[in-house]
Amino acid sequence: MESAAGAESNGEHEIISWFEGVSENSGYVQTQTLCRILELNSGVEYLKKWLGDINVQEMEASALESLYTSLVPLASHADLETYIQRIADGDTSPILTNQPITTLSLSSGTTEGRQKYVPFTRHSSQTTLQIFRLAAAYRSRVYPITPGRRILEFIYSSKQFKTKGGLIAGTATTHYFASEEFKIKQEKTKSFTCSPEEVISSGDYKQSTYCHLLLGLHFHDEVEFITSTFVYSIVQAFRAFEELWRNICSDIREGIVSSRISLPKVRKAISDIISPNPGLASWIEASCKELQDKDWFGLIPKLWPNAKYVYSIMTGSMQPYLKKLRHYAGDLPLVSADYGSTESWIGANIDPSSPPENVTFAVIPTFSYFEFIPLYRQNQNCSSSIDDFIEDEPVPLSQVKIGQEYEIVLTTFTGLYRYRLGDVVEVAGFHKGTPKLNFICRRKLILTVNIDKNTEKDLQSVVEVGSQLLGKAKAELVDFTSHADVVNQPGHYIIYWEIKGEADDKVLSECCNEMDACFVDQGYIVSRKTHSIGPLELCIVERGTFRKILDHFIGKGAALSQFKTPRCTADEVLLRILNVCTIKRFHSTAYG
Ligand code: AMP
Repeated sequence: MESAAGAESNGEHEIISWFEGVSENSGYVQTQTLCRILELNSGVEYLKKWLGDINVQEMEASALESLYTSLVPLASHADLETYIQRIADGDTSPILTNQPITTLSLSSGTTEGRQKYVPFTRHSSQTTLQIFRLAAAYRSRVYPITPGRRILEFIYSSKQFKTKGGLIAGTATTHYFASEEFKIKQEKTKSFTCSPEEVISSGDYKQSTYCHLLLGLHFHDEVEFITSTFVYSIVQAFRAFEELWRNICSDIREGIVSSRISLPKVRKAISDIISPNPGLASWIEASCKELQDKDWFGLIPKLWPNAKYVYSIMTGSMQPYLKKLRHYAGDLPLVSADYGSTESWIGANIDPSSPPENVTFAVIPTFSYFEFIPLYRQNQNCSSSIDDFIEDEPVPLSQVKIGQEYEIVLTTFTGLYRYRLGDVVEVAGFHKGTPKLNFICRRKLILTVNIDKNTEKDLQSVVEVGSQLLGKAKAELVDFTSHADVVNQPGHYIIYWEIKGEADDKVLSECCNEMDACFVDQGYIVSRKTHSIGPLELCIVERGTFRKILDHFIGKGAALSQFKTPRCTADEVLLRILNVCTIKRFHSTAYG
């Protein structure tokens, strides 16, 4: 165990006791946080529109909170888009905040097929640093790490670009990796990333991945844990490693970086670090040969023997990659990382030993002002509602109840007011006075033809059951997406699978039937029985199709660090890729 004095010097006790304090008084802290946001942004155009000329400084805090929630309406991104666009176009008047906005973030928005601009300020980087330090402090209580050593981080910046008005735009992670706070985090947590800045920001994710792996192996005995923002990046890196390991070994042997790394800055940065190491190369080679015979089971502990755990977001749309990660990680603990969005960080995983499936996120009440819209699932089919939920009036953080599902609403320091995030969470319990949330899913329905309503989580459950049959056939699901085909009548769902290994047609056809029968939504079942929704179609796409989809998004400015495979798409380009790459089609006979 690290000594108490060591932990003290990292400020771990300090940050944990700070969090315990604000959790204890979370209701009060939330009211104060709202007042602070409104004071800082008093008089901005958007707030003036709803609050008029109220002098927020002179109001009593809880009266201001009631007034604010009664006068300012709930808003979606679409309601704020024109304001944000004006900022992007160079309007420097106080529109959403009094602080000048010099940077805009792109939220990944891949599920909706387009990216959204969100204001980014210094506060965004500061909260990122704060939540990382807090989570690191809780982790080191359970899995202490040796100060001064390395982290193998699969992190990637996207290209930053200038908007018409000259603002820097890029993903939030990109801004963070370029910020002072990212350097401070390494100093404060006394763990240093293996790759230099040139690798993180190369702009070519294939070259960055290669270099992360190369340097991760160069520093292999110093690596204390392996991480990425979303677990997709770790899985894609090790899938690539299965094909690249011989080249990486040869680079390590010779101390010369492969010609596949064509970016001069990156080549130089790597050359400054590596030198010929035939001993290490031979050890990696022998290990990889052994691993290959075990289909790469336990790759991580074998090649990084001092790694204590793997740390990344593994919940929500990342859950389907957990199985593959477990395969690579063998016995190493998997620690699910924190919950946040480009708009605001929300909660930290303060129970690092809980398995990723059970992880909860303790809301940090100083980051934003949080409201919660109670959601009730409907038992009846109801074709008029936008989704499966009936809403109640939003409640403040201090009034949420265990077991209840909510949509999160944010009021942020960066100028979003009563902004619906679109995520559904469930209150699993409390830490002192602050709720611990389970992430349930994105609220938006993804599959709907008529009265049927299925969310990403519903699709995920169905695919999980269907793909279990693949396991028996010694094949595995690499990735998946879906589409609701309403052009051809009757409308029906199409699920696209990329698989690795061989599965014969009989097995695939069973998978198709199984999935069709597994949708539990009454609207779907009734429509399938009456044939108003046609048989589920399973399309098997050729290997590498989802890599093409990733490339398509990266080409549009997405960053691998924040990439989430869209689980349902109506995007024409994507559908074209999927359909061109389809090699087999199956139609369900589950409903006759
Ligand atoms: P971004 O577009 O990158 O800002 O994505 C933010 C979204 O990613 C959130 O609104 C969630 O839907 C999802 N997300 C972020 N953190 C987590 C987490 N720990 N578990 C599940 N989903 C998450």
